[in-house]
This record gives sequence, structure tokens and C-alpha cells, in this order.
Amino acid sequence: MLKKFRIAAVALSSVALIAAGTVAFASGASWSYTGATGPSHWATIDPTNYAVCADGTAQSPININKPKPTPLANLKFDYVAGEAGIFNNGHTVEAEPLGTEKSTVTIGSTVYPFAQFHFHAPSEHEMNGLHYPVEVHFVHKTAEGKIAVVGVFIKAGATANADWAPFIAKLNTATADPEATKIELDWANLLPANKQTVRYDGSLTTPGCAEGVKWNVFTHPVVLSQAQINAFLEAYSGNNRPVQPLHSRKVLLDSTATK
Ligand SMILES: [Zn+2]
Repeated sequence: MLKKFRIAAVALSSVALIAAGTVAFASGASWSYTGATGPSHWATIDPTNYAVCADGTAQSPININKPKPTPLANLKFDYVAGEAGIFNNGHTVEAEPLGTEKSTVTIGSTVYPFAQFHFHAPSEHEMNGLHYPVEVHFVHKTAEGKIAVVGVFIKAGATANADWAPFIAKLNTATADPEATKIELDWANLLPANKQTVRYDGSLTTPGCAEGVKWNVFTHPVVLSQAQINAFLEAYSGNNRPVQPLHSRKVLLDSTATK
């Protein structure tokens, strides 16, 4: 009975997310990061919806190691500051724009509307086999369903980061309702100043692990105080999918990025 209720609750929250215009988790069985519903079991707990988690050949995250320097067009961020709804979806804490202003990132010739950011701790991507304490995913989705994710690593430094402070202040009190916790966020200021990225073709890192996702991971982390990082870890820790095989994919390093 309890299990039935929990599945119903997940289905309901997916509907709510779709209604809010964000990228929703695919409908399917309840999953987690540990034990019998953890990452190595995702495909078997729901073969209909999650099969690609196991049999895909372009899965994320990956260990980033010796990416190939390549002259690529800069990512063009057109982020507009505005009201954000902060909510806890049971796997992470997310922030989504609530206002009518439209934030986008342009990659090549495609303009991707910004949908939401959320975090994983420790980082999902590894750099030369090492994790950062936190990785934030800025998720973008076109009307046709094309997805681009921008990954931001977070590392500890001496001083607190004022731009991240409003979100961090709500990390441990946010509810499941984005309308219940509203703050002002200047999205562009949450990104690192240096915009160099590693780029590759991958997937969503949560079930159903859909492929065709354009990944852009900043090589330069954003610096937060240890106390700020601890607030992330207090909300969620261990919500990272392990790195996946690269197979034949190419991983490129943007060799011409400018600030
Ligand atoms: Zn993510």
C-alpha cells in the first residue's frame, strides 16, 4: 500500500512539473541512488521506460580526460534576471524561472530556452578521475524537445559567494511547490567568469536516461565558501550517477573561449 502511494505521488509530481513548463522526469518507476533502486538497477526496475540507462551507448555523466582542443563557437548566454521558484523534487533542489522573461543559451545555430537548474553532490562528471564537491546543471530545452545542459562545478574557497547566497538560503527549506519559495536570481552571475567548456553528446543522468543531450561542462569551477557547500550537502549528498563508458564518443575542449 505504501509503495503504491509513493508511485502515485511521483506520477503526480511529474504532472505538476510538466504543467510548470520545466523538463520533467520521465514517468516511470520510483528510483534512487542507493540499494535495490540505485543506478545499477534503473533499467531493470522499469524496462519499458528506463532500458537505455543500461543499454545506451551515449550515457552521462563521463570522466573527462584529455578532451580534444577544438576551435568552437562560444556559448552565447542571454540570461535575464528575475523571479525564481525553488523546490525539492525528492532527488535534488531545483530553481526555475517564474516570470515572463526568457533566458536562453545559443549553441551553434540553436537557441535553447533555459528551463531550470538543479545540483548533484558530489559532481556527476569527473575531471581526470576526480570529483568536485558539487555540480550544478543548467537545463535548456527547445519547443521541439532538444536538450542542452550546461554543467558548473563548485569548489571551496576562502569567501562566500554573494550571487549564490539567495538560492543556498532556501536549499534546506524548499518544499515540493515552486510557487511556495520565491527569490530573485541573477542567473548569469551564477556561472563562472571564464566560459571555456568541454562538449560532448550524452544523456539525461536520471531515469529514463534519454540520449541526444548536448553537454557543455565548464572547465573553470565557481568558488563558494565551505559553509555554502555544506548547505548543499545537507540538502542532498550522494545524488550523483556514476560515470558511464565513453564508447566511441568524441569529447571536445573549446580552445577559443573568451570571457
Ligand atoms: Zn542533473
